Amino acid sequence: AATSLNLVNLGFGSAAVDPGRRSRDELEALARDAGRDLEGAPAEVIAKWATDTFGDRFCVTSSMADAVVAHLFSRVAPGVDVVFLDTGLHFPETLKVRDIVAATMDVNVRSIRPRQTVGQQDGELGPRLFARSPDECCFLRKVEPLERALSEYDSWATGLRRDESPTRANTPVVAFDPKKGKVKVNPIAAWTQADVDRYISRWNVPVNELFKMGYGSIGCWPCTRRTKAGEDPRAGRWAMFEKTECGLHV
Ligand code: SF4
Repeated sequence: AATSLNLVNLGFGSAAVDPGRRSRDELEALARDAGRDLEGAPAEVIAKWATDTFGDRFCVTSSMADAVVAHLFSRVAPGVDVVFLDTGLHFPETLKVRDIVAATMDVNVRSIRPRQTVGQQDGELGPRLFARSPDECCFLRKVEPLERALSEYDSWATGLRRDESPTRANTPVVAFDPKKGKVKVNPIAAWTQADVDRYISRWNVPVNELFKMGYGSIGCWPCTRRTKAGEDPRAGRWAMFEKTECGLHV
């Protein structure tokens, strides 16, 4: 529980925390301790630990399916950077959520674009790369842009939840990502869909209108389809391929 946390060691109540550059070993140790001590803590406590610990070397990432995590951090750390990967292939409804977040929340929304527009990519690699090689398309339009954006930060937050899919069942609240060399924070990892719905209702958080149209999980329009009642919400993602993740969270 939050009350049993050693908040001083975690950075609370101490002026000694330096959010400046840290070594890989320091980041790894911070993540290990926090992952252990913050398990079971409220999302707000996890979010506050992250922003206090990393300062301006921290950002939130959001797919703008909903704006729960962006909102959570806007309450805990007003002005926090929120990174949105603008693939050029989003539904208009998703861009609408991004624009509402930018206009109504105390956060700094940063839309990060791929190196090439969709047209430039089509010209070089041929049209509809998503239908021929979705891994390559996701790398060019999501993975590389995220890595470029994260180069400015030591830590980032996501809205991953354990109940979203079997591949996410063991998501820790804080962990070191050895590939990126950064600390990944998942403050709502332990939340259920009911917890998310309660938060949205309590704070009147913007939600992507596609959820009301039968979409269970929302990504780029070419790789997202509606889901049927009772179907795994993520079954609508890359439904034509044996692919369940875009590569951002592996
Ligand atoms: Fe390309 Fe689909 Fe990945 Fe979007 S989700 S980057 S369209 S393969």
